[in-house]
Amino acid sequence: MRLSLNTQILIGAIAGVVGGLALGQLDGDSALRAQALYLAGLIGAVFIALLKMVLVPLVFASIVVGVAQLRQHGNIQRVWRITVGFYLFTSLIAVVLGVSAANLFRPGEGLQVDMFADALAGFQAKQMPFPDFVQQFLTGLFRNPFSALANGDIVALVVFALILGAALVKAGERYTVISRAMEEALDLSLLIVNAIMKLAPWGIAALLAKLIATQDVALLETMARFVAVVLGTTLFHGLVVLPGLLWLIARVSPLALWRGGRESFLTALATSSSSATMPITMRITRDHFGVRPATAGFVIPVGTTMNMDGTALYEAAAALFIASLVGIDLSLGQQMLVCGMSMLAAMGAPGIPSAGMVTMVMVLQSVGLPAEAIAILLPIDRLLDAVRTVVNVEGDIIGSIVVDHLAGDDSALNDAQAQANLEARI
Ligand code: ASP
Repeated sequence: MRLSLNTQILIGAIAGVVGGLALGQLDGDSALRAQALYLAGLIGAVFIALLKMVLVPLVFASIVVGVAQLRQHGNIQRVWRITVGFYLFTSLIAVVLGVSAANLFRPGEGLQVDMFADALAGFQAKQMPFPDFVQQFLTGLFRNPFSALANGDIVALVVFALILGAALVKAGERYTVISRAMEEALDLSLLIVNAIMKLAPWGIAALLAKLIATQDVALLETMARFVAVVLGTTLFHGLVVLPGLLWLIARVSPLALWRGGRESFLTALATSSSSATMPITMRITRDHFGVRPATAGFVIPVGTTMNMDGTALYEAAAALFIASLVGIDLSLGQQMLVCGMSMLAAMGAPGIPSAGMVTMVMVLQSVGLPAEAIAILLPIDRLLDAVRTVVNVEGDIIGSIVVDHLAGDDSALNDAQAQANLEARI
């Protein structure tokens, strides 16, 4: 019997975790450990490089085609409004959860800032005042498309593709060759994704093994309370809030979400990058959840760059943690400011590993906390980043299903069809 790719990926993930735990037991200087880590790093890096290779043509073609098709059907405004509304709503819930959990469980209790003197010494955080962030963010939206394509600058690429898609529709029948070429580029990119996915079980196993074997266990223990609060709250958002909304709005069960989304969730866990996971996310929302290609082609890339619930939640909780560590009591108004800033910072963070740490500086500065304090958080970030990236990707998948459901027209699949589609493919 041949195992489905979905099952192979699950087996790969389990093997990676077990292998990582075993490697962690080996002596730090042993040659076997060094060789195994090198090999795991190599396989993982090749897998991520392949995903990034296909990412740029895929994002570009999918948005142009998505926008063109949605505009032809006249429902682009509706799709746009629901997408932005849903993404903002779920990020708001995430930051409120993050701040509430930090107030309730006080993860900084029992720790003092001088316990981290070594990490803080010599660490110079790059300053990011709010006006600079706004300027950087806004100018970053518009770049020469060729430089954006060449440098894999996804945000600028998304924006240019949105504009090109809109222009193609406005021009009507005049540029059918370019429209057709984009459609064909999209189909070809998805074919390449399918081929890359055959490597996914190996790539995921290697990345997870390395992630687990290289954790600094002593540091995780020192900060166990903070780690537990962040992980617990992030999991609550990912396992209860988001699936609950999906069920309420589109009647897709949490089990169907897990089964259909597993390939993306495990890739996000292993790569800590929503961008690298995007080609897979695009594929599964179309193939496993029956989301119309036009909706997926638009909602997924926009979500990958802008919608990060896990990151927003983390930034809010971490800011309160730092405040208690340095002995500052934040007023209710300041906590609300932290919430707003965390939402913005998450939107501005690119979907790459530890990106949230960079934009976190802005959240800290907004309420007068020392930016250098991120030196305390950085050493434990790999693990937390992996989990929040899964929730970021989950938000995008759920967003696309919800938007497709709410903005549906006659061409939309009805619930029974979508369910049948799901059963048949997984
Ligand atoms: N690694 C996250 C992502 O790619 C971003 C972050 O929170 O650092 O979604």
